[in-house]
Amino acid sequence: MAERTKYLLDEEALPTHWYNIGADLPVAPPPVLHPATHEPIGPDDLAPLFPMALIEQEVTAERWVEIPEPVRDVYRLWRPSPLYRARRLERALGTPARIYYKYEGTSPAGSHKPNTSVPQAWYNAEEGVERLATETGAGQWGSALAFACSQFDLDCEVWQVRASYTQKPYRKAMIEAYGATIHPSPSERTEAGRKILADDPDSPGSLGIAISEAVEAAGSDPDCRYALGSVLSHVLLHQTVIGQEAMQQMAAAGDQPNLVIGCTGGGSNFAGLAFPFLRENLAGRLDAVIRAVEPTACPTLTRGVYAYDYGDTAGLTPLMKMHTLGHDFIPDPIHSGGLRYHAMSPLLSHIVEQGLIEAVAYDQKPCFEAGLQFARTEGIIPAPEPTHALAACIDEALACKETGEEKVILTALCGHGHFDMNAYERYLAGELVDRPYPQAQMDEALTRLPRVDV
Ligand SMILES: *Cc1c(COP(=O)(O)O)cnc(C)c1O
Repeated sequence: MAERTKYLLDEEALPTHWYNIGADLPVAPPPVLHPATHEPIGPDDLAPLFPMALIEQEVTAERWVEIPEPVRDVYRLWRPSPLYRARRLERALGTPARIYYKYEGTSPAGSHKPNTSVPQAWYNAEEGVERLATETGAGQWGSALAFACSQFDLDCEVWQVRASYTQKPYRKAMIEAYGATIHPSPSERTEAGRKILADDPDSPGSLGIAISEAVEAAGSDPDCRYALGSVLSHVLLHQTVIGQEAMQQMAAAGDQPNLVIGCTGGGSNFAGLAFPFLRENLAGRLDAVIRAVEPTACPTLTRGVYAYDYGDTAGLTPLMKMHTLGHDFIPDPIHSGGLRYHAMSPLLSHIVEQGLIEAVAYDQKPCFEAGLQFARTEGIIPAPEPTHALAACIDEALACKETGEEKVILTALCGHGHFDMNAYERYLAGELVDRPYPQAQMDEALTRLPRVDV
């Protein structure tokens, strides 16, 4: 029998529910606090920014949350997504390990982001919202939300981190092709943006600044709400379709992962893949190591502090306890724009604190090296973000070669790199540098953490 490469599921196998890890955690995460009173926030505090259905999902105690049929209907455009066994990469490495990757690059936007942009747009449309405002780093989230808004007749306004806006002009064109409006951030359109530009007219921007601008825009217009592409618990919830499908596909392959690896920016694709497997770990049905990989240029989980901080630079958001480098820390403009966020999902941070998953950091050059090795064996050119996960998979597979261990490694190839070719071009031209780890800059930013007595 021919060796199988690709595990596909029928449309009927598309999950009917999202999985909420919160229902299975031994210790509940700390509360989210009001930025002024430092008291736990309630639904009304979030109502100017989010529709009620998403606020409820943010705090739900239900283990399973039903996916609305109109959302599943859009999911069917590309879901269930394929799971591949990376046989060609395994052969090139000469490893006894078996490497599987769940490929999310088949979505209209080319990444896992539409798994959450589609339900977010739908719930907003259901509640009569007319417009969504958002930020985007590498442009992945902006294009995913623009696509989702086009499905449900919503207007969409995007602030894109300036460094990426100039590096990746085609993401802007894509966002506009879906009918959305886009501005580079910092911009003159908001008070938060104007303040940054007054201090530093050449600011490359950051996700934290772009979030401040979009939150300000949404908060000042009753017909507009805000949408976030990562970090929040409802976003991680929506992404669990990835892991649920992967579990069915691994069963079809007759394998169970010993090691689940993903890249983390705000934590959503990683959580989406990992949480259904973490549930199995917690129930004693699986004993897999679950590992997050982040860039050394923005090492929230491995070097940040676990403390209450703002989600944005201007300090407009509620206070969340999470791994943070300080809300006004601006990471170097590395090519993995999607991994340049000053903090980590509070839910994922809590799970790391509980010792349920581990984290490592990689420099960008070995990641591009891994991305090219992957492209030259498996054929898919990965987005720069998942090359972090691939570099860690390859290191594990090479270690297995030494020990002879037949580990089963599962990762999420969370997006393709077709809009990131200028990063590959620079790597191939030998122009990419690994910057020293920004300890002084981080220490400085951490002195400005909000003081919270709880
Ligand atoms: C946005 C993005 C990321 C980072 O976000 P997470 O929430 O950590 O998943 C990683 N990879 C790709 C391809 C992205 O678009």
